[in-house]
Amino acid sequence: MTTLDTSRAYDVEAVRADFPILRQMHHENVPLVYLDNAATSQKPNCVIEAMDRYYREYNANVHRGIHKLSEEATTEYEAARLKVRKFINAGSKREILFTRGTTESINLVAQTWGRANLKAGDVVVSSVMEHHSNIVPWQILAAEKGFTVRYVPVLPDGTLDLDHLYNLLAKEPIKLVTLMQVSNVLGVVNPVEEVIKKAHEAGALVLIDGAQSVPHMTVDVQAMDVDFFAFSGHKMLGPTGSGVLYGKRALLEAMPPWMGGGDMISSVKLSGSTWNDLPYKFEAGTPAIAEAIGLGYAVDYLNQVGLDNIHAHERDIISYALERLKEVPGLTVYGPTGENKGAVAAFMVQGIHAHDVAQLLDSEGIAVRAGHHCAMPLHEHLGVSATARASFYLYNTHAEVDALIAALHKARKTFKL
Ligand code: PMP
Repeated sequence: MTTLDTSRAYDVEAVRADFPILRQMHHENVPLVYLDNAATSQKPNCVIEAMDRYYREYNANVHRGIHKLSEEATTEYEAARLKVRKFINAGSKREILFTRGTTESINLVAQTWGRANLKAGDVVVSSVMEHHSNIVPWQILAAEKGFTVRYVPVLPDGTLDLDHLYNLLAKEPIKLVTLMQVSNVLGVVNPVEEVIKKAHEAGALVLIDGAQSVPHMTVDVQAMDVDFFAFSGHKMLGPTGSGVLYGKRALLEAMPPWMGGGDMISSVKLSGSTWNDLPYKFEAGTPAIAEAIGLGYAVDYLNQVGLDNIHAHERDIISYALERLKEVPGLTVYGPTGENKGAVAAFMVQGIHAHDVAQLLDSEGIAVRAGHHCAMPLHEHLGVSATARASFYLYNTHAEVDALIAALHKARKTFKL
């Protein structure tokens, strides 16, 4: 599946060899330096080939046909579910729901559990640092149901104000705490285990947005004792359109379905219908079959390289990047800088708008993102309308960080700073 010799120390060049896009020239003669991994990751050969194989060799719908192709597609689709179950250590494959991504997973919880359980007088707690996908679904439902959404503030060092959260838990009728594990802007790693424990002691359930954690660190949903856990396949080497909602079985069993249609029913009569068992109750219609299979192969690849190795490599790269970014005059990095930071550096260069920074970097072959990164309330809190963001993954190198720094110096010169 890979050329990687896993018995050797981390071999970033061998990892890179598995990603065909990284061999590409970005502009005519500038090699691609891909530093936009928090937006989406690149895909290794094994994922691309697995999806290609599905379409070339056994394309068929799942769970329906009696024919060989359908059986093969079903076997591979369900094998992917088992791989994901093991990857996050869920207790049962029935607790792994395939979705289109983190956004859909959170909306699913809001529209099923939320719709059935939240009413006027209840409180849902989110935070100022959340991605819009963990703010807007709750606002939409709150407008209909009349419950309150409160937001935990962010401290000046870019960490969550935990005292504020624990005070809320002591005083208010909180039904759900919904937080990200790792911020896509600040890079901060939130102490979710501690938060989950305190929330449970106060009688609240917890949803964790793992979009930026699952690709980069070992996650064990049982050890965490989390109630709902959402993540996206495309940020962890898998295809777009693949994602997961983990939920504790008892909660999922009690939740009404969301979308109605094929596969999610046990029987349909004109007088009413009954629902299929988990996880199918929440997977109405033809699912993203190739995408789920691709995600399964991404999990295989991450396991083969080893999440601990990936995490150690990323720590090395982000530490090096943070050191070198200090050399650029007028550059501010947001969020913490210690061990509690993932491989994300959102920054601003005084005198240059973030979009101009991104455009100038692009002309040097360096792909970063600029904007509010779907975190407008956080940017309002930081007092900036936009930041540029370099985000790293298992295939990034020190030389690419050097290229970033050189391009930033060049950008300052272009702006005569
Ligand atoms: N949460 C976080 C922390 C994210 O970084 C993202 C993607 N930027 C999302 C949620 C939404 O993920 P998706 O667009 O894959 O649904």
